[in-house]
Amino acid sequence: MSSIIEAYRRRTPGSARLAEQAGRLLPSGVTHDSWHLTPYPPFIDRAEGSRKWDVDGNEYVDYSGGHGALLLGHGHPAVVKAVVEQMPRGTHPGTCHPLQVRWAELVTKLIPSAEKVRFTASGTEATMMAVRLARAHTGRPKLLRFRGHFHGWNDHMAFSVSSNFDGTPTPGVLPELTEQVVLVDPGDVAGLREALAKRDVAAAIIEPTGASWGQVPVSPDFLAALREATAATGTILIFDEVISGFRCSPGGAQAAIGITPDMTTLAKILAGGLPGGAVCGRRDILDGLEFASEANPGKWKVPHNGTFNANPLSAAAGIAALSIVGETDACRRAIDYAARLRDEIERVLRDVKSPWVVYGTYSGFHLFLNPERQPVTRADIESCGCDYRLFKAVPRATNHKLRVGMLAEGVELFSWPGGPTSAVHTEDDLRRTCDALRRTILAMRDEGDVA
Ligand code: PMP
Repeated sequence: MSSIIEAYRRRTPGSARLAEQAGRLLPSGVTHDSWHLTPYPPFIDRAEGSRKWDVDGNEYVDYSGGHGALLLGHGHPAVVKAVVEQMPRGTHPGTCHPLQVRWAELVTKLIPSAEKVRFTASGTEATMMAVRLARAHTGRPKLLRFRGHFHGWNDHMAFSVSSNFDGTPTPGVLPELTEQVVLVDPGDVAGLREALAKRDVAAAIIEPTGASWGQVPVSPDFLAALREATAATGTILIFDEVISGFRCSPGGAQAAIGITPDMTTLAKILAGGLPGGAVCGRRDILDGLEFASEANPGKWKVPHNGTFNANPLSAAAGIAALSIVGETDACRRAIDYAARLRDEIERVLRDVKSPWVVYGTYSGFHLFLNPERQPVTRADIESCGCDYRLFKAVPRATNHKLRVGMLAEGVELFSWPGGPTSAVHTEDDLRRTCDALRRTILAMRDEGDVA
């Protein structure tokens, strides 16, 4: 057996037992595709700050960061206090409550495009509602998406993300529905203009920092061309800021880049580490949800329900988190840590003469595992000079071995591989991460996994 896998198995007997049980109860033993890991993922018992501990007591530097939700780290005292105080006051009043007003106030204060807000229970629900509102507003049928960009798992979004780039449906999605989705390559301004010229596209949606939190970076020039082309054709521009919102800056990517979309979808940091999402944007578009719109002849409002929309626990956590984001340098700290981490990882890769490339923007990092040993540099990637398919074709076996090797060294990478960083990662985390990566690469080389 591989010594990397053996070391991991030796440290994690409790996770192995739970994984075996989980395999009998849950498809692939997981509840999110990104948690799938060979031989098995770690089962986490508790977390605090930038660290977490598995059921066997092993400590990890955490780069899952609650899938990007935990800009403030695990268990920030102000967030915990807000949730604990709310819990005995009720988890579901079943009608309006003051926290949803304060929460919406913070969103409209921080996010430039947000004139009005509708809360949902997840980011997937937010993008689903954004598309529906855009269709209702424009009367047009189609949605424009960029290949490789992730917007949740609803039917309109569940293909051409990491496979099916030709627009064919993934299993369970109707082909009739995919015909209503126009796909454009990221960075293709001519293709974008041509697709919008027919004026049958209700909305264009994009991750403004590039596919999968910048795994495939997008240039501000392309965003500017997109803003211009959508405005010129009456197409609604949706920035999907589920990850980038309250992360690139307190006002998200749109405030950092200086381009304001018509609508924005939010989740993750929005709800302070609890479940929650929102669609926000121009008042006239969000007014599609207004009961008053029924007064117009032949009109019916866009229906929207959802048992846990703006639930008070998520609202309490969200208010605490957004207050900190708005009033402190939390975004800046996470961004600075990521910049130092990328530089230090680059040094490790150079030292061990690895063909891998580290890159990223804002508070995140990605590792390009470069299976074909292409002469690609960090500057090439960050200047958006590469085809999206290069980064989307992550070699699974190498990626899993890397992540298992890092786990055995006390560091948990997110599945891209890479991760979002937080405002509470420390110099010690940085050193541990780089030492773990150096040792893992050398062990993988010994086992013939990488050059
Ligand atoms: N959009 C983006 C950009 C995301 O990163 C995600 C989740 N990773 C979603 C939408 C879906 O959000 P959720 O998982 O809350 O449904």
